[in-house]
Amino acid sequence: MRRLDPSVTAGGEAGPARCPYCGGTNTEREHPKGPSLCRSIHYCEDCGEPFEAMA
Ligand SMILES: [Zn+2]
Repeated sequence: MRRLDPSVTAGGEAGPARCPYCGGTNTEREHPKGPSLCRSIHYCEDCGEPFEAMA
């Protein structure tokens, strides 16, 4: 049997997005505002920059 390890990024489904500025995964997902449901807003805690990522 295998246990799912939440620290493993296997495809990016419901996982932390990678910051396009510093490449770190210390990001927080924010609620999307507007009708764009296919995109989500993430916020990097390392460099403090918000960025959009495909959900
Ligand atoms: Zn960053």
